[in-house]
Amino acid sequence: MVKECGENMEIELNDEVTIEQPTIMMSAQRLETFGEKGMWFEVGSASRQDMVKSGFYCPSEDKRKNRIVKCTYCRKEFANWTRDDKPEERHLAESSECPFAQFGRDEEELTVREFLELELAVKLAVMDEDKEKLKAAAIESFSDVEKLLNKK
Ligand SMILES: [Zn+2]
Repeated sequence: MVKECGENMEIELNDEVTIEQPTIMMSAQRLETFGEKGMWFEVGSASRQDMVKSGFYCPSEDKRKNRIVKCTYCRKEFANWTRDDKPEERHLAESSECPFAQFGRDEEELTVREFLELELAVKLAVMDEDKEKLKAAAIESFSDVEKLLNKK
């Protein structure tokens, strides 16, 4: 199953429960989340171009105003940016398990295999975020199975 980047992927658990999973946001999409010029640092090492290169995007208008960004790969949020912060260094220091930060290279420089590894890591991270929903859905479907078995 091949999906375009930026499309939402859905996992169907049963007829009623569907959990939306955003796929990886690529650099052009991430840059857009930083808004018009002047809404983020234009100069310095934490400029929006460098933030994007390090895998970051602004998850919402509010968070951008408060200088909070999120990594599209490890799903971790990073706050309190100053224009001279080094995004790559902070990324690895505050999220050492992030596979993208560990590669330490631009997306275009990654091999297909490395990119697939990233994709898998993102899916696992998203599933982790939705763990509670998944748990509730699983309990529900178990009780459905139980009901079915009891009918026999
Ligand atoms: Zn990360």
